[in-house]
Amino acid sequence: MAQKFRKICVLTSGGDAPGMNAAVRAVVRAANARGVEVMASVGGYRGMIHDELIPMTNRDVSNKIQLSGTFIYSDRCLEFKEEAGMQKAIATLKKHEIDGVIAIGGDGTFRGATDLSMRGIPTIGIPGTIDNDITASDNTIGFNTAMQSVVYDVDKLHDTCESHARCNVVEVMGRGAGDITLNTAIATGAVACVIPECPFDEDACIEKIIRLRREGKRGFIIIVSEAFPTLGQELTKKINDTTKELAEKEGNDRLWVETKFCRMAHIVRGGTPTLSDRVLATKMGVRAVEELLAGNSDLVVVERAGEITTCGIGWSQVLDRKYKGTLKPGMTDKYSAEELAEMDKFIEAKKAEFAATYAMFNELAN
Ligand code: ADP
Repeated sequence: MAQKFRKICVLTSGGDAPGMNAAVRAVVRAANARGVEVMASVGGYRGMIHDELIPMTNRDVSNKIQLSGTFIYSDRCLEFKEEAGMQKAIATLKKHEIDGVIAIGGDGTFRGATDLSMRGIPTIGIPGTIDNDITASDNTIGFNTAMQSVVYDVDKLHDTCESHARCNVVEVMGRGAGDITLNTAIATGAVACVIPECPFDEDACIEKIIRLRREGKRGFIIIVSEAFPTLGQELTKKINDTTKELAEKEGNDRLWVETKFCRMAHIVRGGTPTLSDRVLATKMGVRAVEELLAGNSDLVVVERAGEITTCGIGWSQVLDRKYKGTLKPGMTDKYSAEELAEMDKFIEAKKAEFAATYAMFNELAN
């Protein structure tokens, strides 16, 4: 018979993402609606280690859905990775009679969730990260808002680039994933974008800018993923210096594409969550409660083709590592040949879609 759930714990961990509050609200209200109490672990897993668990009622989550950041706070808690820290966390959960945990965060947070599951605490993960780097899910909470923030600010840069006939190279977050970069490059009418998933030809990019300037184009935007920490500044200098030299050589100062660099950094982590992030967070929060109460554990809630579903956290992490080429020996041992083939098929489709989107972007960026 399925375990009776009386009280669960919710937490937000790792990098914050707009929409996390909407997910917490959904978890609290869905659990309360099913007669289950909720406590929040303050500051991610740290709250469990330091016995900072606070009750969350429906009223506590009122007027939070529209707020960015996370009102139950987040933290990078290294102590939780150690067995001693984990045992302290479990002792706190036992003291408060917590029957299950819902962890909202990225892949690090899910590793913590698996550790809890393995020690007998049913745990479900919800992907909350602006980077959209959980391969198993088409969308993560915060991704849409982060892109919207980039577009909002790059549009402003575009205005001034057009006025002064300049180029602006903009570096955006996303860790190892180019999702924010590629989508915002499309949406801002950028002339180029640099992402880890596809090759970038710097010389061809500069040649294109020169050709377009000869044709009369004034303002240029280039979006670069933070996966390349020095590339943005180097590219800025190269475009600036190459076109300046050309302008001097040809005695035509209009050929100089004065180029500036802008790193958006953590600005895109904040901002009012968009409608789609609020709805996604709400659906995922409710689903996580349903899964936990149905007796499931060690799962992550994902979105595929608009549907909310789940997969094993381990499965999701192997898929991630296969996608990113970071698999270590032994990691795939517990998966059958069919399961691994299914992952390969999934990855192939995702990569093909990325490549097609990149090709579409480049065709129009002219
Ligand atoms: P994200 O969840 O966004 O990937 P982090 O990688 O910083 O962010 O992970 C968030 C937190 O999850 C860490 O501070 C730590 O408390 C916990 N965590 C990360 N990795 C592990 C692990 N291997 N085992 C247990 N807990 C972990």
